[in-house]
Amino acid sequence: MSRPYRAPGELDSLEQVLQSEHSHGDGRFTAAASERLREITGAADVLLTTSGTHALEMSTRLIGAAPGDEIIMPSFTFPSAANAIVLAGATPVFVDIDEATGNLDPGRVQEAIGPRTKAISVMHYGGVPADVTALECIARDAGILLLEDNAHGLGVEGPGVRLGSVGVTAAQSFHDTKNIHCGEGGALLINDPTMVLSAEIMREKGTNRSQFLRGQVDKYSWAQIGSSYLLSELNAAVLDCQLAEFDTIQRLRHRIWDRYAAELADWADREGVALMDPPGGLHAAHLFFMLLPSHEAQRALLDHLHRSGVGAAFHYVPLHTSAAGMLYGRAAGSLDRSERFSERLVRLPLWPSMSDDDVDRVISAVDRFHVRTLVGTTSATR
Ligand SMILES: *Cc1c(COP(=O)(O)O)cnc(C)c1O
Repeated sequence: MSRPYRAPGELDSLEQVLQSEHSHGDGRFTAAASERLREITGAADVLLTTSGTHALEMSTRLIGAAPGDEIIMPSFTFPSAANAIVLAGATPVFVDIDEATGNLDPGRVQEAIGPRTKAISVMHYGGVPADVTALECIARDAGILLLEDNAHGLGVEGPGVRLGSVGVTAAQSFHDTKNIHCGEGGALLINDPTMVLSAEIMREKGTNRSQFLRGQVDKYSWAQIGSSYLLSELNAAVLDCQLAEFDTIQRLRHRIWDRYAAELADWADREGVALMDPPGGLHAAHLFFMLLPSHEAQRALLDHLHRSGVGAAFHYVPLHTSAAGMLYGRAAGSLDRSERFSERLVRLPLWPSMSDDDVDRVISAVDRFHVRTLVGTTSATR
């Protein structure tokens, strides 16, 4: 399904960190990688973190989410955004998605807003921008905040939208399944300058050590509640090398994505399958998905691909149907589309160094699969 990219210079940078005897966080590679992220995303400030999950946790704490507050989010997403809400003592309110993109449906968000709503947490599935114009408008009218989970959408930019600079904060992930990775790691992008100092303290075990290192205070101490969210320089060294290759990595990923879209189009038409079709062509080439006509067809295609030696997967058991989601969250309105999306989704392998032969093999394996015979056979059997 995915293989981490090897960027030039990684071993050399790691050696430099080890030689320097400064491998804890906030060194020279942290500064360099943060600067590259500022350039890529246009975010006002960037703090590297130990994971995307931790960046999301920092976000809900920074906006002061507390028991009694609700934060609206998609049910179709990775659990981290929901955990971040629950850890702050607040309640995730799950709303449905748009059927074509898998992103939050602004109409459903609007309907879910109530007196307890503190924020909207938006994820851009596959790096396809959610309808940020509508969401910004809804948030402004309701006097609530917008938080971004931008784990899929690093560097996506188009007319009127730049992912990572939409929310008051945005979380990036550098897990080794993401476009840019450092094993495990993340970043909190901060677009409200008044939050930066508090975020620095939260990341440094609740101390004002960052101010101390800049010579702004003469000693450091416990200033507020925090945790250890600071990325090690060892990880930052790898991250810096990866970010230096961002354009190359994206070019390689888009090339594979474009081949899937073009070469599977006839098959998809013939078989009644919907290929990923980002509005305005904007996406991060993080993943390539297709929606099969039924759950039965999804299972059959996944089996067929696995038997052909091709890794393929679906994902995101909708959070409102998960054990923890039912315990800690609340569903607002119908979530039929989230369930149908997850039941019909198939993702194809995609990694930057995939060879043309690899891509050929995937495409020909998919092309040998016939939804219609499957449906015919099954109904005949019944
Ligand atoms: C990967 C991912 C996360 C979590 O990031 P980690 O760095 O693994 O903690 C959160 N949200 C989404 C949408 C993700 O894909």
